[in-house]
Amino acid sequence: KPIVAIVGRPNVGKSTIFNRLVGERISIVEDKPGVTRDRIYAQAEWLATTFHLIDTGGIEIGDEPLLELVRQQAEIAIDEAHVIIFMVNGKEGITAADEEVAKLLYKSNKPVVLAVNKIDNPELQSEIYEYYSLGFGEPYPISGAHGRGLGDLLDEVVKHFPTLSRNEKDDDIIYFSLIGRPNVGKSSLVNSILNEERVIVSDIEGTTRDAIDSYFKKDDQEYTIIDTAGMRKRGKVYETTEKYSVLRALKAIDRSDVVLVLIDAETGIREQDKRIAGYAHDAGRGIIIVVNKWDTIDSKEQSMKTFEDDIRKHFQFLDYAPIVFLSAKTKKRIHTLLPVINVVGENHAKRIPTNVLNDVIMDAIAISPPSTMKGKRLKILYATQVSVQPPSFVIFVNDPELVHFTYKRFLENRIRESFGFLGTPINIFARRRQ
Ligand code: GDP
Repeated sequence: KPIVAIVGRPNVGKSTIFNRLVGERISIVEDKPGVTRDRIYAQAEWLATTFHLIDTGGIEIGDEPLLELVRQQAEIAIDEAHVIIFMVNGKEGITAADEEVAKLLYKSNKPVVLAVNKIDNPELQSEIYEYYSLGFGEPYPISGAHGRGLGDLLDEVVKHFPTLSRNEKDDDIIYFSLIGRPNVGKSSLVNSILNEERVIVSDIEGTTRDAIDSYFKKDDQEYTIIDTAGMRKRGKVYETTEKYSVLRALKAIDRSDVVLVLIDAETGIREQDKRIAGYAHDAGRGIIIVVNKWDTIDSKEQSMKTFEDDIRKHFQFLDYAPIVFLSAKTKKRIHTLLPVINVVGENHAKRIPTNVLNDVIMDAIAISPPSTMKGKRLKILYATQVSVQPPSFVIFVNDPELVHFTYKRFLENRIRESFGFLGTPINIFARRRQ
């Protein structure tokens, strides 16, 4: 998906605009329990195109002086985004910090759309002309407070999206990525997989713009590990700022079928692990939790069970994800990984025929009918799978408001039990049908 970054000095209203643009989406995902959400990025949608939106103002770089701060944030945006929204404050005029940002953006050759915020009423419209001098063409007047002008702004932003060819992805190949805190062993595991699994490795030339992927084949299954270049070469630099590394992880997650969430057995589970896992969960990818450095643990059955309980307790939102214990260093148990990747990759793309699905749903309703809400009873007419990756289902009902989340979860569990969706999230949407 395209990435759009909002750049501008503090207090021009970046977060307000950010929240307006993604507001709906955030309230939708919020009902998934257990995910600590990080608000510097989110998914937004305009004209049926979804994109990632980044508020660079949310990236804490430390106690830097103002100019240094905006400069670094602009650089992040230039590195990561396809389109940049450069935001200035229409009530204050152009400041030195604005000019600093403008200089950097100008040199970057990235498409920049200039937004002049705090133009709260039409009389102020004439004030925007001075902003032509920043050199980014037409300034778009907006009002974060009133939500004015956002449509025109987004129309312009969307025009600059690169034409991303999804067909670049080959359906026969399982694309996977590794994410996790610095030093959990991501690079080590990639190397172990490629070197020790006796796989046939070859570089596919020119596969992507910003990542060199590792393609390999094992037992007739083809795989591509995404963004190893980032991990092997640039990774360390990027990981110095946690939220910055998130952007890199996001890009990799976006292109993956399956995401390996690495946890360090030696140090145990940390808060940051949960956040990182939350991104993969939100993106709807297949997920495998990989406990690395298992060689450092006195590996009795008991310790594995204890660790697993710990993971289940901390990652309740990933209850569908299988757990693999291994050591990238000693290669112990590493052979257990690819078979699990195969299963999760398959489940993530699995399609259930409508008649079979409806048998299961109708059975579930018969066993446990929905209770009444406000004197009305939910009626489920039929269900169908509308998409894969992740598998998504629509249930047609008399009134979507009557679908309590506990009942949705009940149906999800029945679907999981019946069709074995190990490792993949599944979505259920309710739609009205009389
Ligand atoms: P990354 O930052 O996630 O890419 O982590 P690296 O692959 O660079 O590994 C960080 C450190 O952990 C290195 O010193 C590795 O040698 C070490 N390491 C990685 N995997 C293992 C493992 O399975 N066992 C042990 N004991 N150390 C490991």
